[in-house]
Amino acid sequence: MTAIDNLPPLREVIATHGLQARKSLGQNFLLDLNLTAKIARQAGDLTQCDVLEIGPGPGGLTRGLLSEGARRVLAIEKDSRCLPALAEVSAAYDGRLTVIEGDALEIDPLAHLSPPIRVAANLPYNVGTELLVRWLTPKEWPPFWESLTLMFQKEVAERIVATPGSKAYGRLAILAQWRADARIVIHLPPGAFTPPPKVSSAVVHLTALPEPRYPADAATLSRVVAAAFNQRRKMLRASLKGVAPDIEDRLLAAGIQPTERAEQVSLEAFCALAREVAK
Ligand code: SAM
Repeated sequence: MTAIDNLPPLREVIATHGLQARKSLGQNFLLDLNLTAKIARQAGDLTQCDVLEIGPGPGGLTRGLLSEGARRVLAIEKDSRCLPALAEVSAAYDGRLTVIEGDALEIDPLAHLSPPIRVAANLPYNVGTELLVRWLTPKEWPPFWESLTLMFQKEVAERIVATPGSKAYGRLAILAQWRADARIVIHLPPGAFTPPPKVSSAVVHLTALPEPRYPADAATLSRVVAAAFNQRRKMLRASLKGVAPDIEDRLLAAGIQPTERAEQVSLEAFCALAREVAK
């Protein structure tokens, strides 16, 4: 393990502060500071940015973000046991780290951040997916963030970057790719974490586009895509029956065959359909 700062190695931090991982909080820690610095680098040039980190835990990724030059890191952590260790990180980095104790699903961090803002997190997977969907579906676009660099279970990461025709293609791919560029930047085996989870993981990097890739009303697109993939094995004329009484005509007007299944329809075609449905 390489020292990236003058703080003790993470194993020592965990022992000193009694931070044995708790399953209930989805705690699988990254202890290799080379790896956390590498993940931080995937978030782009941080020197002019505030970074929002969710779930810093003992501070491995936090130290990576700070050592890579983040202007400021605001970290939200639910586990109060981690706060003393994070206070040491803040002191070592001249107060560039601010920690808020609480549940990231309930806290609005925006009052504490100045643009440009990037987001980085290694989160429990259920919380990660819920936050991702919220970050992808704000009332206004562009969103508060320029990029999201997030650890997911490999299978979820694959759903985010999936293309038509694959099993992983669905609502998450459409939501992510409509208004962002999304790619998998690092694959990690279970052994990269302490304790190791059951599944492999991957880091996904998403960059917000200034405007949606294709025009569509967000709420209509979301409704159409949810209905289409809810019954993904059915033909669209059946799965979308509830969306509009004359759905076959609208599908045809959007250039989609009513006998196609959701899995085969491109993002562009779903946007065309959302426009037809909204007419
Ligand atoms: N970022 C650290 C790392 O990479 O080693 C810890 C990762 S661990 C997978 C997830 C962290 O998120 C834990 O520290 C856990 O306490 C915290 N956490 C879990 N649920 C949370 C929530 N709803 N809000 C904020 N933090 C949460």
